[in-house]
Amino acid sequence: MLPPDADPHVRYRAPRGTCPSCGSVEVVHLIIGLPAVPDVGADVPDWARPVGCVHPGHDRECCSCGAIWDSAAGDLP
Ligand SMILES: [Zn+2]
Repeated sequence: MLPPDADPHVRYRAPRGTCPSCGSVEVVHLIIGLPAVPDVGADVPDWARPVGCVHPGHDRECCSCGAIWDSAAGDLP
């Protein structure tokens, strides 16, 4: 038996979090810096989107209200 956090098929384990604007859990993570190869999708949840080295200026998007933010920015207004 593997512990719950050792799923070999999911390499990306950052907590999904919630939208700071509307509180929705429908948050998309932009994964910056990983090679945007086609098969990377097998290793990340469907709410994480590898974007390679192109930093769009934010790394979180809300599917519910369209808010964008940067997780590294810390607290938000
Ligand atoms: Zn939202």
